[in-house]
Amino acid sequence: MRILVSDQLHPAAIELLEETGEVEFRTGMSNEELIEAIRDKDALLVRSATKVTREVIEAAENLKVIGRAGIGVDNIDLEAATERGIVVVNAPGASTTTVSELTLGLMLALARNITRADSSLRKGRWEKKNLLGVELRGKTLGVIGTGRIGSAVIEKAKAMGMRVIGYDPYVSEKAARNLGFELTGLEEVIRNSDFISLHVPLTDQTYHMIGREEIAMMKDGAFIVNCSRGGTIDEEALLEGLESGKLGGAALDVFEKEPPFDNPLLKNERFIGTPHLGASTEEAQRSASTIAAEEVIKVLNNQPATNVVNMPRVLPEVLEGLKGYIQLGELLGRLTGQLSQERLSAVSITYCGGLAQAEGLEVLTSSVLKGYLSPILTGGVNLMNAGVIAKNRGISVTEGRRDEAEKYQDLIILNAMADGEEVEVKATLLGGEEPRIVGIIGYEVDITPEGKFFIVEHDDRPGMIGQITTELGKHDINIDAMHVGRREGSQLMVTSVDKELKEDILEKIRNIKGVKKVMTAVV
Ligand code: NAD
Repeated sequence: MRILVSDQLHPAAIELLEETGEVEFRTGMSNEELIEAIRDKDALLVRSATKVTREVIEAAENLKVIGRAGIGVDNIDLEAATERGIVVVNAPGASTTTVSELTLGLMLALARNITRADSSLRKGRWEKKNLLGVELRGKTLGVIGTGRIGSAVIEKAKAMGMRVIGYDPYVSEKAARNLGFELTGLEEVIRNSDFISLHVPLTDQTYHMIGREEIAMMKDGAFIVNCSRGGTIDEEALLEGLESGKLGGAALDVFEKEPPFDNPLLKNERFIGTPHLGASTEEAQRSASTIAAEEVIKVLNNQPATNVVNMPRVLPEVLEGLKGYIQLGELLGRLTGQLSQERLSAVSITYCGGLAQAEGLEVLTSSVLKGYLSPILTGGVNLMNAGVIAKNRGISVTEGRRDEAEKYQDLIILNAMADGEEVEVKATLLGGEEPRIVGIIGYEVDITPEGKFFIVEHDDRPGMIGQITTELGKHDINIDAMHVGRREGSQLMVTSVDKELKEDILEKIRNIKGVKKVMTAVV
């Protein structure tokens, strides 16, 4: 086997690769040099510097696998690789331990005033009284986002004798029980924690999720740590919380603007800042390289790899035939994820009509799961791993086939079970091309899944729609399109709107007499 390593990889990874084949380790190549070097190689390993373009991929005559030592694969043309049947693998969990250890380090530094003590001693002071600290043991840690890093923090905090509560709307009770923490609501975590640590991706939902209101709800003297992403905490509100003495302290490894040289937080003595050091350890760098190398070796030896980024190896003609449905499946998953309650426990997907006879339906199921999971997880959800991620999150997935497809040629029916409530959404491709949602919770609808949706189930009586749209008008929300479905004394009003609706407007609409259910989604 011939392996090309074109970025700086840890020597331990090179050693591993050398046990499998002949390694050419050459960094800093020009595009032309890379094209020449890749020609006869079976595998390529990169970090983020090498640009693996379509031109490079097409020049490779024997290439079977590309390994990325890290998470992001923006530097690799995935489509070109997939078309050529080249597997792309990465190393998503490589920095989990490292980031979780920094989090614990910052918690300890806050609890014991370590950074303040050090700088005061350097100034010739011996301030034992001023620097009285607190223990972690017996305190409550609230973890927001209990994925890979959040879970590692929970394990360590428990070992230190902390009580842990957590908020993650996409994690099952079962997963929380297995890890030994209490899964609860965001407000409970905010109100009841002595320490709060964030481990969420930056999304529309998590942007400024800790702001003035949340800080006001916290315990007096609470500590906040953020090693996730800048922007999840409103830094102005954080500074106010520190200056007013409401907060005991705060530590950030990540900032909304990096580097944060002009950030006034850096002048506050109860604040600790680190320069996005989360993943910066010798071990994390090493594991990013060795995990990627191990994955590459598995593929070269025809063994299943764990961290595959691109599509499964379904025959290209089968994949081509399903292309439109793969997109539809993803839209359906994304929409249903938002319409259902937060804690999804089971999904059942039924393929009807012509689709019931199709090959490669496992790819469609993966696309539905990908659509559901991608908005809530930090990168790396793809058609290959979506099923495994769903399983690890305690979501049971069943597939069914049915010849009858109502009035359509093909139909996908998705039933999502969350917190004991079931949401059913049906979708089809009109004329084999145009994606349409044709059923929501038992109502027949006809909507193009694109844009911002506001959906209300209400009594079927005169004046209901008027009351709801008047409320929207009062808040300057424009309706672009409206569709009304009807059944047994109730109606489902689906509107496509120009702005997302804030919680206070939704609450007003929920309070209108005759309104049964209010849902929103952005597709
Ligand atoms: P992950 O995808 O394994 O976990 C993220 C968790 O957040 C998931 O369990 C998800 O369900 C949850 N989540 C999503 N939306 C939420 C919401 N609105 N409220 C509560 N929970 C929500 O990711 P990870 O590997 O654990 O990484 C966590 C964060 O750490 C990411 O933002 C990542 O970019 C960041 N990170 C930072 C550094 C650093 O250098 N400081 C290094 C690596 C990762």
